[in-house]
Amino acid sequence: MAVANNVPVDLYEVNWGEATIPEQVDEVLSTGKYDLITVTHNETSTGVMNPISEIGKVVKRYPEVVFCVDAVSSAAGVKIEVDDWGIDICITSTQKALALPPGLAICTFSQKAYEAAREVKYRGFYLDLVRLYEYIQKKDYQYPSTPSLSHMFALNYQLDKIFEEGLENRFARHEEMAKYVRAWAKKYFELFPKEEYASNTLTNIKNTTGISVADLNKRLAMRGYMISNGYGKLKEQAFRIAHMGEMTLPQIKELLVNIEDILGL
Ligand SMILES: *Cc1c(COP(=O)(O)O)cnc(C)c1O
Repeated sequence: MAVANNVPVDLYEVNWGEATIPEQVDEVLSTGKYDLITVTHNETSTGVMNPISEIGKVVKRYPEVVFCVDAVSSAAGVKIEVDDWGIDICITSTQKALALPPGLAICTFSQKAYEAAREVKYRGFYLDLVRLYEYIQKKDYQYPSTPSLSHMFALNYQLDKIFEEGLENRFARHEEMAKYVRAWAKKYFELFPKEEYASNTLTNIKNTTGISVADLNKRLAMRGYMISNGYGKLKEQAFRIAHMGEMTLPQIKELLVNIEDILGL
């Protein structure tokens, strides 16, 4: 994204299935080359959840650096303490753990991020967060351009439902589903990421027995279920089971029983 916007950037990657660890971030920031870092919280392609709170402790040692987190597939499924963890911009969208249609991005924005953004000369137009922030500060409920109001109504409805469930209950539900799927995965296959970094919103499972994931998915679809094939180069090498949003443990159990039935496990 930075490259597409003509922003000078360096990309640091880890091997697929491994986590970004605080030591790596410290090494990169200690070069003094950077004024912003962005890290993905939950790697939806590999099922890795990066230790953002620990990374945040490292980033705090570099007060000139703006800390951005992509929390698209984790927000609303796991707790994210943006202020405690020192996250300046935390971004998510409606179509993952918020269980809404795609089309709206949501972010938190710190004073530090606002001040840093003001120094940027060309911020684009529709996604100029400074302009958006200044409009919102006026509290007259005007936006610089027409937002997707239908998404906002849907989000308002969903947030009420989330508060009704209770945040702690919601996070516990996600953890419970994740633990169940991980135990199931270890019984019949293997986890793709190291368990200590395994995501609580989706599980990536190594296809250790050489099943046809595409065929399994076709047969699941006939029963009204769907899982995801491995992403990119992991196609057929792994498969992913989502357990986020409005899914419940009984639904997850039902899905797994159907997979067992189809595969004759
Ligand atoms: C889904 C997802 C996105 C955004 O996907 P879009 O299809 O571009 O909306 C970004 N980051 C992560 C980690 C995701 O899971």
